[in-house]
Parts: sequence; C-alpha cells; structure tokens
Amino acid sequence: MSESEFDAAKAQTSAGSAESPGTDKPPITPQQFFDSLLLIEDFLRYGCRSGRKVEISLPGDLPIETGLATRKAQLEALAAQVRACTACALSESRTQTVFGEGVSDPEVLVIGEGPGAEEDRQGLPFVGASGKLLDKMLAAIGLSRQTNCYIGNIVKCRPPNNREPTPIERAACIGYLRAQIAILKPRFILCVGRTAAHGLLDLTDPISRLRGRTFEFEGIPVVITFHPSALLRDASLKRPAWEDLKRFRALIDGSTRVEE
Ligand code: URA
Ligand code: SF4
Repeated sequence: MSESEFDAAKAQTSAGSAESPGTDKPPITPQQFFDSLLLIEDFLRYGCRSGRKVEISLPGDLPIETGLATRKAQLEALAAQVRACTACALSESRTQTVFGEGVSDPEVLVIGEGPGAEEDRQGLPFVGASGKLLDKMLAAIGLSRQTNCYIGNIVKCRPPNNREPTPIERAACIGYLRAQIAILKPRFILCVGRTAAHGLLDLTDPISRLRGRTFEFEGIPVVITFHPSALLRDASLKRPAWEDLKRFRALIDGSTRVEE
C-alpha cells in the first residue's frame, strides 16, 4: 500500500466516527475533567511540563492478515508521527527519536526502556554496549533483529543522563508502542528490565516477582527478564537471565503453557 492509499484508508476508517460538520462540541465530560486534574497533579508532583495523550492516527481496524508492504507503510507513517512528537519534555533534549528496528512480521518483539546516548546518536535501538549483549542473548536462542525479531522501547526519546523515564513520560509515549504492537502482531513479547514490564503491563512489582512467569498483553504471551545493562553491571545475573531465555525459547517452541 502506498502512503497515499494508507492516508485514504485512514480517512475512510475515521469517517464513520467523525462528528458531522457544524455540530457543537459537547460540554466537558467527567473523564476530561478528571484527566485535567491528573495533569495538574503531574505538574505539582514532578514540577515539569506534563506529558499529554498522543493522538495516533492509525486505521481503526487493522486487517488481521496484513501484507508486509502494508505493515511497512503503517510503521513508516507511525515513525513519522514519532519524529514530530513533542508530547513530553524528552522531545526537548533528544538528538533524534528512536522508533525501533527489525522485521515487520516478527516472531518476537523485544521491549527495552528507552534510548541511551549511542541510540540517540544513531536513531536505532540497542546499538551501544547493552545492545551488543542483547544481540548475543537473542542469538543464543535463535533470535535476531535481522530475521525474526523487532526491537523497540517504552519511550522513543532519550531521558537525560540515562535516567529512568518518569511515569508521565511513559504514559505519554505508550500509545506508540501499542500501535507498533497492533501493526507488528508479534507472536511473543520479551520485556528486558523492570521499566519495560511496568510500562507495558502497568505493573509496579520488583523484577524478582516478574521473572519466571508468563503474562499476556492483548492475547500475546509476555516474558520478563533482566535488562542487559543490569547483566553488564552484575555478572551474577547472567545465569538466571539464561534460565529466563531458555524458558522463553521453550514457550516459543510450544512446550510451556501460559499461566493464568
Ligand atoms: N537501553 C534500552 O532500554 N533501550 C535501548 O534502545 C538502548 C539501551
Ligand atoms: Fe513523544 Fe515519546 Fe518522545 Fe515523549 S518520549 S516526545 S511521547 S516520542
């Protein structure tokens, strides 16, 4: 599908829900009022410009069987929105956005936290020291971004000094990841690190309580392991990480059932 056909599809799918011209805007809803209170709370708590919900214009009903060319066009349209995004304060300090990298029909989507310095420079995910280790971890279980994986992050812009993204920044950016998942339709998801798991699944548990289990995101099995940068800091985590990866491989191969 060309970009113009993609735009036409977008227009068509949104036509049904569009308000008829001339209709007066309804008064503020209780939900909008509540959202405004949350924005004020964010500002008071974090003292920074709050993130706002990103409007993502994707076709409402993505076809179940999407051809590769269509997926690529949809991803490119979404990446263009990300490049222009100023929904949270991370847009002010980024060199460039880091949308994601990999095949468009992945067996596995790997989710990290957010770009570091090297990623911010190159515009690609996991290309620094922890990225090299991630590639080795994936290769050990037959996965790679060249053949069967896609790699993305919870936030698409680098947090200054590699700090964790705040809940506000995560909330501002998560719609893009959700849209990526809707387009990519991965069979499995691997979250590396606590922030990825918390951001995707809206959890707050420590990583020790998240490893060794299988969660679900919209019907897709999700496994959580350590972030490669944690393994670089503490070599004793390598063995348990390897256990996680072997279990993940067994799940892919169909020998492990999803827990409740
Ligand atoms: N760490 C992450 O979580 N993501 C990257 O893309 C790079 C480092
Ligand atoms: Fe937009 Fe996400 Fe970047 Fe914030 S981190 S500016 S929400 S793309």
